[in-house]
Amino acid sequence: EARKKGPGGMAFYSPKVSEKALTHFVLLRDLERALERQEFVLYFQPRIALSSRKVTSLEALIRWQAPEKGLVPPGEFIPPLEDSGLIVEVGRWVIREAARALKELREEFPELRLSFNVSVKQFLDQEVLLSALREALSETGLPGQALEMEITESLLFKVGASGEGLLEEVAGMGLEIALDDFGTGYSSFAYLKKIPARTLKIDYSFVKGLPESREDAEVVMAIVSMARNLGKRLVAEGVERKEQLAFLAGLGVEEIQGFLFARPLPLEEVRLFLRTFDPSKAFW
Ligand code: C2E
Ligand code: MG
Ligand code: MG
Ligand code: MG
Repeated sequence: EARKKGPGGMAFYSPKVSEKALTHFVLLRDLERALERQEFVLYFQPRIALSSRKVTSLEALIRWQAPEKGLVPPGEFIPPLEDSGLIVEVGRWVIREAARALKELREEFPELRLSFNVSVKQFLDQEVLLSALREALSETGLPGQALEMEITESLLFKVGASGEGLLEEVAGMGLEIALDDFGTGYSSFAYLKKIPARTLKIDYSFVKGLPESREDAEVVMAIVSMARNLGKRLVAEGVERKEQLAFLAGLGVEEIQGFLFARPLPLEEVRLFLRTFDPSKAFW
C-alpha cells in the first residue's frame, strides 16, 4: 500500500526525516479516527477541600485508548491535536462527555462540581466553545456554577485581548474560571485583578519540593499572599506526600489535588472513590 512507502515525492529527504514525517502522518490519521471510533476516554481526579475534608470537585482529564498502544497520556497527543486543529472537535466532545458524567454523579453527590481544560485553538474558536458549553448545560440541566473552565496563563498570553471577552461570556453563563499551572506564566497583578478567575491552581512544579526546598516554599508563600490580596481561592496540584499537605494546609490553601488522595480515575472507579472516601483516615 502506498502509505508504507512514505508520502510520495520525498526521495530527497533522508530516511530518518521521512520516517519521522510518516510517524507523524500516521499519528494524525489515527487521532482523526479516534473520535468516531470512540477511543477517547475521560478520567476524573478528585479535589479535596481542607476545611470540610470533602471532595468538592473532579478534574476531567482526557486519555486515548489507542488500539495496540494502550492508554496514551494527553502529553503525547494534545500537542498534535492542537497543531492540527483537531482539538476543537475533541474539546467539544470533552465538554459534552464531562457534563454528562457530572450529571450522572450528581444524582448521588448533588454538590459535586467538575473542571475541564481548554487549549489555545479552542479558545480562538470562540463560537464552537460557547455553543459546546450552552449545549452541555441545556442537555444536562446542570447550573453553570457546577462547571469550571481551566485555562493557563500562557494561553491568555497567546490569545491576547480577544480572550477577555470570551472569559466574560463564560463567566456570564455562571461557570467558574481557574488559572491552571499558576506561577509558570507571566500574569501581572493588574491582569489577575481584571480577569474573572476565582481560583488559582498552584503548579505542580512548585509543590514538588515542599517543604524541604527553600525556593519552592518561598514561591508558594508568595503565591498565597498574592492570592489573599486579590481575593482568589487556591488549589494545589500534584500533592503526593503528607508533608506537602501539612505545609499547604498551614498556609491556608483551600483545596488539594494529587496522588496522595487519588490518581485520575475512570468514571466507575471515581464513583467508588466518592462513596468510600473516609476523611477521618490518615493524611491530616
Ligand atoms: P493539568 O490540567 O495541569 O492536569 C494535571 C495533571 O497533573 C494531570 O496529568 C494529572 O494526572 C497530573 N497529576 C495530578 N496529581 C498529580 C500528582 O500528585 N503527581 C503527579 N506526578 N502528577 C499529578 P495528565 O492527566 O497527564 O494531563 C496533562 C495535561 O494535559 C493537563 O495538565 C492538561 O494541560 C492537558 N489535558 C488533559 N486533559 C485535557 C483536555 O481534555 N483538554 C485539553 N485541552 N487539555 C487536556
Ligand atoms: Mg488542569
Ligand atoms: Mg495544572
Ligand atoms: Mg499542567
